[in-house]
Amino acid sequence: MNAPFQSTSATSDIDPRLPLQLLIAAPRGFCAGVDRAIEIVERALEKYGSPVYVRHEIVHNRYVVESLKAKGAVFVEELDEVPDDAPVVFSAHGVPKTVPAEAERRNMLYVDATCPLVSKVHRQAERQIEKGQHILFIGHEGHPEVIGTMGQVPEGRISLVETVADVAKLPFTQDDDLSYLTQTTLSVDDTRKIVEALEDRFPQIVGPKAEDICYATSNRQAAVKQIAPSCDLVLVIGAPNSSNSVRLVEVAQRMGTDARLIQRATDLEPEWLEGVGTIGLTAGASAPEQLVREVVDRLSEWRQVEETIVTTTEEKMVFKLPRQLTD
Ligand code: SF4
Repeated sequence: MNAPFQSTSATSDIDPRLPLQLLIAAPRGFCAGVDRAIEIVERALEKYGSPVYVRHEIVHNRYVVESLKAKGAVFVEELDEVPDDAPVVFSAHGVPKTVPAEAERRNMLYVDATCPLVSKVHRQAERQIEKGQHILFIGHEGHPEVIGTMGQVPEGRISLVETVADVAKLPFTQDDDLSYLTQTTLSVDDTRKIVEALEDRFPQIVGPKAEDICYATSNRQAAVKQIAPSCDLVLVIGAPNSSNSVRLVEVAQRMGTDARLIQRATDLEPEWLEGVGTIGLTAGASAPEQLVREVVDRLSEWRQVEETIVTTTEEKMVFKLPRQLTD
């Protein structure tokens, strides 16, 4: 790596002539599901006027939420905070069946911004229940996507599995009719280990053809794996409650590279650059590209940045908008 950087904490100590190699991962940032969810709120504002209510953060990014608030969106956590006569959008993470059922009961105008890849998991869950299977759902407790997917099936027919250790504690036998599904934004590596543990303990278990981890999550993790070994530090732009962003930090750390989650350029500390010759930069699926440019600009204030884009794959996925917003 480059020559060690001797600064302590003050920005004035930084030698701006020291080059900083910046490896920018591609793909990074917005996925097709996030693009679609944001466009749904914007189109709903155009079509119905302000305010448009949004149940839960439309995507887990404060910058996105604040931008939409400025355009007239009102964010709430539950439907009982929404007046009956106001339009409401459900977030990209998906909702339990009880939520649209309540909206229909109250005759509300609602638009579902659930990512089509999450909806696909919902349909798989319904099919597995129809076949009489008990679902073992691999995911993180409390995440809205997990709440939404577990809320697609009757209570008692789905169990959450968070770790390999959880598999040993499951109260099932090899005679039980079992299937599994996964959250879309998990660690590819951790999930593979959990699925292997499930298949070891329950050889009869059936699952989807491929795990349900979405293309955007897998691609961003693969891109970090590509750059992390060449970096002294990896910066991931994303929110602490963004599952796919937190997983990107873990991927880099597991490769032995220091990694930090930041929400914006203002989170950067100049002392992080001490002794650092190469930084990797990526962004979770809910972080806009503007935040990436802000980070590059901030680093450029401190060091002579030499940017390289490292592309591991091209993404062309686009999801259609709900017809009620395009008619
Ligand atoms: S991260 Fe994946 S599942 Fe989530 S919104 Fe994006 S494409 Fe959809």
